[in-house]
Amino acid sequence: MSQDPFLVNFNNATFVKSATKPANYPPEQTPEIAVIGRSNVGKSSLMNSLFRRRSLVKVSRTPGRTQLINFFSVDDKLMIVDLPGYGYAKVPKSVLRQWRPMIERYLTTRPSLVACLLLLDVRRLPSEDDLMMWDWLHQFDERLIVPVVTKVDKLSKQKRHPQLQRIANMLDTPTEAIISSSAKTHAGRDKIRQLLTSLCWTPTEEPQPL
Ligand code: GDP
Repeated sequence: MSQDPFLVNFNNATFVKSATKPANYPPEQTPEIAVIGRSNVGKSSLMNSLFRRRSLVKVSRTPGRTQLINFFSVDDKLMIVDLPGYGYAKVPKSVLRQWRPMIERYLTTRPSLVACLLLLDVRRLPSEDDLMMWDWLHQFDERLIVPVVTKVDKLSKQKRHPQLQRIANMLDTPTEAIISSSAKTHAGRDKIRQLLTSLCWTPTEEPQPL
């Protein structure tokens, strides 16, 4: 029997495939959650922390170079989708030109996509790119958009709350809506796992064939 207190065993995560276009996406058999944020925000580290795996998701050495959409299955119940990071100054223009349509296509044509986690580095105020992404994601009414600040271990406890308030103000969202996380201390991991677990389809909610 599984020792995991949650319904979904996050330790049972597997890489499914990489894709750049819809024809290569895996079949939509489970709810999907996209993880998005600027390069170097700590996306790979957070996903590895969620999966309790040191290097299932490659921690990038050359930020902004990974230009693929990576699909990870969690316990055959959820799909976590790692979207390539944005906003890294050294990304060549040609790469940037491919990035946008690739991401937009994925985000606009995937009915099983139920939620997006937008990652923000707790030490920075959201960039123009972050704010654009935040606004853009809100055009999909039926989708949950969750701001997650990363690397909270890097900010002293006294500085954390005022900084969270500043970020919340810029996002025009309540401070309590933001999840604080650290891949180093695993702060926020259980909260994110609970949130993701709550997005699982119950048998009656499963999409019916047309
Ligand atoms: P990505 O480009 O968004 O996938 O970011 P990475 O996961 O590759 O992380 C970028 C850098 O930040 C790496 O050097 C990580 O070790 C570091 N990092 C990521 N998350 C944390 C964290 O929670 N705490 C600390 N202290 N460092 C982190």
